[in-house]
Amino acid sequence: MADRDFEIIIVGAGPAGLTAGLYVSRSKISVMCFEKLAPGGEILNTEHVEDYPGFEMIGGPELAQKFTDHAVKFGLKIEMEEVSEIRKDGDDFFVKTDMGEYRCGAVIYTAGGFPRKLDIPGEEKYAGKGVSYCALCDGAFFQDEVITVVGGGNSAVEEAQFLTKYGSKVYLVHRRQGFRAHQVAVDKLTENEKVEFILNHVAEEVIGDDKEMKAIRLKNVKTGETQDIEANGLFVFVGFIPNTDIIKEDVEKDESGFIITDQNMETNIPGLFVAGDCRSQLIRQITNASGDATTAAVAAEKYLEAQEDAKKESAPAAS
Ligand code: NAP
Repeated sequence: MADRDFEIIIVGAGPAGLTAGLYVSRSKISVMCFEKLAPGGEILNTEHVEDYPGFEMIGGPELAQKFTDHAVKFGLKIEMEEVSEIRKDGDDFFVKTDMGEYRCGAVIYTAGGFPRKLDIPGEEKYAGKGVSYCALCDGAFFQDEVITVVGGGNSAVEEAQFLTKYGSKVYLVHRRQGFRAHQVAVDKLTENEKVEFILNHVAEEVIGDDKEMKAIRLKNVKTGETQDIEANGLFVFVGFIPNTDIIKEDVEKDESGFIITDQNMETNIPGLFVAGDCRSQLIRQITNASGDATTAAVAAEKYLEAQEDAKKESAPAAS
C-alpha cells in the first residue's frame, strides 16, 4: 500500500530470517531484513553443523554465509539496524530501529533469544574471566586447562565435546540423571576419556581471586552436600531466553515466554508471523527454523493479498 516503506519487514537474520527473506524476495515483494549483529544468528557460534540435510558436516559460519549469499542473490536487503519496538496501528506495523521508523503491512519476527544465566554468586564477577556462554568464541583460551560445563541439553553436551579439543579435562555438571540432549551425542561424550560427568549436582558459586575464577562450588541435589572442584573455565549452557520484549503488542506466549503461533506461523496479532528460536515449539533446530520460516513467508504473502482484496472490495465503485 502506498504509504508503506516495505510490504514485509523481517526482524533478525538467522536461519529463519534468511529463509523467510529468500522466499519473500523470490516472490518480488518489497521486503527489508533488520539484524543488529551479523547475518547468521546462532550458527555463527557453532563450530560444526552435522544435522543439516545435504551437508554431512559443515562449519557453522560457512553455513551462515551460504544462507546469507543465497537470500541476497534473490534480492534480500539486510540492514544492520537494531529493532527496538514493533507496534501495530490499524492495518500497518511500525518497526522502530536505532536508525529510524518504518511502516509495513506484515512482520516476520525471527529474533531468536539469548543464553540463560545461572544467577549464582561469582557468575557475573568472573564473566570474561573464566565464565563464558560461547565455546566457539572462548574455548581456545582454555588450552590444557580444566573446564566445567553446566547443562544437560544439546548445547551443553555438544559444546562439552568441542571443548575437549582444548581442555585437559572437561567436567559436565547436570542437575539430573537424564539428559534432554540427543542420546547419540550423550553416548559420544561418554566415550571421551577427557570427560567426567557429575550428575545430580548444581553449581552454587564461582570462586576465584581478584583476577580470575579458580573453582566452582557444587551441591548434590539429593544429599545437599557441597564440594569445590578446581576449574579455570565455566561454560554455561542452561537454555535460552526468547527475545520478545520489543513486541509492544499483547502477543500470546507459552509459560516459558516463547511466542505461540498457529500452523501458518501467525500469532494472535494478525500480520505478525514468528519463526525460529523464539517460537513455542518442541525443538529448536536449523531445519525447523527454516521450514517454519518458509511457511511464515508464504502465509505473510497471502495475508497481504487478502488485505489488498478486502480493500478493493470495500472501495466505492467508479461511476
Ligand atoms: P535446553 O535444551 O533447554 O536445555 C537446557 C538444559 O539446562 C537442561 O538440561 C536443563 O535441565 C538445564 N538447566 C536449565 N536451567 C538450569 C539451571 N538453573 N541450573 C542447572 N541446569 C539448568 O537448552 P539448550 O541446550 O541451550 O538448547 C536450546 C535449543 O536448541 C534446544 O531446543 C536444543 O535441542 C537446540 N539445540 C540443538 C542442537 C542440535 O540438535 N545439534 C544443538 C544445540 C541446541 P533439565 O533438563 O533438568 O531441565
